[in-house]
Amino acid sequence: MLRLGHKYNFATYREEAVSRLQDAFGPDWETVIVNETGDINTDRIYMDEAHSWSDVINLAYDLRLERTLPLVYFNAIAHKYYPAYLFNGTKSEDGTLSKVHPSIRQHLLCSQDLLFLEMRRTCFSWMFDESVEPLLGGVCTGRRSACLTALVTAIGKIFTPKQRINYGLAVWDENFVPGLCKSCSRAAEKSFEEGRDILWGKLPVIFGMKPWDSLKDFDL
Ligand SMILES: [Zn+2]
Repeated sequence: MLRLGHKYNFATYREEAVSRLQDAFGPDWETVIVNETGDINTDRIYMDEAHSWSDVINLAYDLRLERTLPLVYFNAIAHKYYPAYLFNGTKSEDGTLSKVHPSIRQHLLCSQDLLFLEMRRTCFSWMFDESVEPLLGGVCTGRRSACLTALVTAIGKIFTPKQRINYGLAVWDENFVPGLCKSCSRAAEKSFEEGRDILWGKLPVIFGMKPWDSLKDFDL
């Protein structure tokens, strides 16, 4: 129904589709809809029985919702079956198979490496950047070796076998890195939150779009 609304320019349907997408994806990082297992939170976005996740991405793209697309793309890469579903499609409740447009597939595959890199440079920089090594060396009030082991374990969990993208725009959770002493955990939380805000600010540019303040949500 929402797709017909756009195709035949039925204003009410189109407006409904726009408002649902804007509601689900924006205006801030707290509206990420992929949960920590990489599944779509269907409480946050309604899909009828004939439509699935690929249709949501296509619709946001077709409607040219510029302010919505960065977060749609982020969720698309955070999806647990990424990148396989870009090729295999996603199935709706009634078994309808949908695939993202080839141009979106290409765009996501070309953008993913920069997203992976920026996540390491921003919210998780404290895991890798030697300049924040004092996180473990200077501020550590526990056993430094224990904190280091916790850090290495967390790097394995978040970055292998594939990067857990949904953690990039998440609420800080001590379970990201269980086993850190209180001082290290506090320092990690502060660095993570600062980095997350930077990642959010960069999100449109990561996907080859203009910065947030230059984007318009509707251009038909
Ligand atoms: Zn420590």
